[in-house]
Amino acid sequence: MLSFVYQTLPSRVVFGAGSLEKAPEEIERLGATRVLVITTPGRRPLDADLAARLGSKVAGLFDRAAMHAPIKVVQQARAEAERVRADCCLAIGGGSTTGVAKGIAMVSPLPIICIPTTYSGSEMTPVWGLTEDGVKKTGRDLRVQPKTVIYDPKLTISMPARLSVTSGMNAMAHCVEGLYAQDASPIVSLMAEEGIRTLAQSLPVVAKEPANIEARSLAFCGAWLSGCVLAAVGMALHHKLCHALGGAFGLPHAETHTVLLPYATAYNASAAPQAMERVARALGVKSAAQGLYELAGSTGDRISLKSLGMKREDLDRAAELATKNPYYNPRPLTKDAIRMLLEDAYEGRPPHA
Ligand code: NAD
Repeated sequence: MLSFVYQTLPSRVVFGAGSLEKAPEEIERLGATRVLVITTPGRRPLDADLAARLGSKVAGLFDRAAMHAPIKVVQQARAEAERVRADCCLAIGGGSTTGVAKGIAMVSPLPIICIPTTYSGSEMTPVWGLTEDGVKKTGRDLRVQPKTVIYDPKLTISMPARLSVTSGMNAMAHCVEGLYAQDASPIVSLMAEEGIRTLAQSLPVVAKEPANIEARSLAFCGAWLSGCVLAAVGMALHHKLCHALGGAFGLPHAETHTVLLPYATAYNASAAPQAMERVARALGVKSAAQGLYELAGSTGDRISLKSLGMKREDLDRAAELATKNPYYNPRPLTKDAIRMLLEDAYEGRPPHA
């Protein structure tokens, strides 16, 4: 029987090549006059370029955002926002940058404007994450939901092929798990299936022609849809595994998603046949897990847990961490089965149901 709760979230999306130019008017729309611009160290020139465009609207720059929002970095960013008397945070960069802006918004009334440059999807969600003493805590809070998101596909052209595909697979993971979520609903499933379709069509093109603006636009549209899915429903095994491996073994976020998604999908295949049918249809293949495995390798460079630097002797602990606390998953979790899944992911073998 159909039964669900769905809540729309308040956010304004401005999408299109060249839309970065609309940043000044979007700031004015929010009534802000003192913006703190946030980015990662590697994206400093982007920061400076944006600051030049925004002129006197910029109260300060914070270019030390880091992956998984380490609490010390977030505290520095909060202090900077206070010091420059910011009335708005503008995050330009990947999920790490958005994460720091969310860390500020958790404890202040500052609205967030997000200008994403990767496919993480964080810009559409009320989900925050903070890392302290090697442990990442996450939660949902409407205060951290960005008020305005500007998607300018031109800003994604600088992503190298590998980052483009891994970041796209991170977005893909939100859509795949959205289709078998405990709180799935018809509208979320529509967004998820369309997100998979657009990502599957665009990522192989982006990997070969990083400057193809049409493919970049399509991929960014898929990332937007994936963020909407992540914002609306709870995730399952795949995201829990990535969270556990990222936190305990310091594995990189998007790459870990890329490696694990085909195996988590194969694990859940028999328990979520309708979701698998939709994933396969959107990918244009027969087997969802195999299709994802092929897409993950579309740069021609197959990554595995081994190639990401994980040690074989840590696989037992990883299986234990992933099954320690109970959570929703379509197929019941057993430590032995998860250990086998991790073994395949360690070697980078094709997934088997
Ligand atoms: P990231 O933001 O760490 O970026 C990865 C690297 O790519 C960085 O060095 C960055 O400077 C660089 N980069 C970013 N954009 C680029 C571009 N256009 N061209 C070239 N280089 C570029 O990585 P990410 O995968 O976007 O984000 C990961 C983080 O986001 C993790 O901490 C993850 O937990 C979080 N996240 C949160 C949510 C949420 O809803 N809260 C969702 C997804 C991810």
